[in-house]
Amino acid sequence: MHAASAAASLDWLTTAKAHAEEWPILVQRLSGRLELTRETDPVGIELALQKILPESDWSFASTALIWHGRRVCVARNPRCDACGIRSDCPFPKRR
Ligand code: SF4
Repeated sequence: MHAASAAASLDWLTTAKAHAEEWPILVQRLSGRLELTRETDPVGIELALQKILPESDWSFASTALIWHGRRVCVARNPRCDACGIRSDCPFPKRR
């Protein structure tokens, strides 16, 4: 294996590990704010989301939730004024 491809593999593994560690926190926060499900544990939430999304969208939805949670729907002060899905989200009305 070339050094460049080994480094790329390591980058991918590092990113995948970071996503795996971050996923339960982000999915709980976003599914709660968006009221996607009444489930509260990460596994239950994931199973509930799998029921409402076609399998072909699971990978995109996972990535979209992670980036939305990192950049817009952040933990302490979600940026609702800049959020593209605000009109579909009940959270700002509850604040
Ligand atoms: S409107 Fe606010 S709480 Fe709802 S998804 Fe957007 S940033 Fe998160």
